[in-house]
Amino acid sequence: MSSRTPKLFVISGPSGAGKGTLVAQVRERLPHLGLAVSATTRAPRAGEIDGVTYHFLTDDEFTRRVDNGDFLEWAQVHDHRYGTLVSEVERNLDAGRSLILEIDVQGALAVKRRFPSAVLIFIEPPSLEILRERLVGRGSETEESLALRMADAEEELKVAGVYGARLVNDDLARATDELVETLTSYERC
Ligand code: ADP
Ligand code: 5GP
Repeated sequence: MSSRTPKLFVISGPSGAGKGTLVAQVRERLPHLGLAVSATTRAPRAGEIDGVTYHFLTDDEFTRRVDNGDFLEWAQVHDHRYGTLVSEVERNLDAGRSLILEIDVQGALAVKRRFPSAVLIFIEPPSLEILRERLVGRGSETEESLALRMADAEEELKVAGVYGARLVNDDLARATDELVETLTSYERC
């Protein structure tokens, strides 16, 4: 029998901090962890797969799902809507699986209100300059969306203090080790 207690982990941090990259690395090391696939109204980037990276919805479909009560939480982030589907959380928790939600700070606070035992983890970039370099290097942003994400990053970093754990994603291998250690230590609680 497993000695692990299923946990709800919420991972936030500015766009480009490396949340997606870190979560992918961590899930290779901790394959028992589930990941909730969020819904969004933003367009897919090259290589993103509908139903795997996100559920990519039209504005009308997103509104219909909001009206239907399908979201545990949803928020306007940067210039689009993003939301956590109740079905994604239940699918994992019902199977007794710990689960990661990779969501923004507004969503994290909403989840914490609903699930007080949720563990909130904030991923920080080493600096705003490096954050900008990573966003540019990812090649995903227009000038306009880059400026918006950088402005939002400064606001998000101000909220980092409410998170139970904070981690700087400097060297990827080191940060992965630290996140694996953080997750496993919370799972032992
Ligand atoms: P987020 O999910 O937080 O928006 P990503 O995981 O997409 O961020 O990472 C943003 C960019 O930075 C990607 O191009 C990724 O390859 C790169 N990256 C992530 N972590 C590191 C790191 N530790 N060192 C250097 N580059 C990184
Ligand atoms: P991106 O467009 O770079 O994939 O994500 C932009 C932001 O949206 C990130 O901060 C990410 O954490 C957030 N996000 C992704 N999914 C959700 C969600 O379901 N709910 C909320 N509130 N934010 C989300």
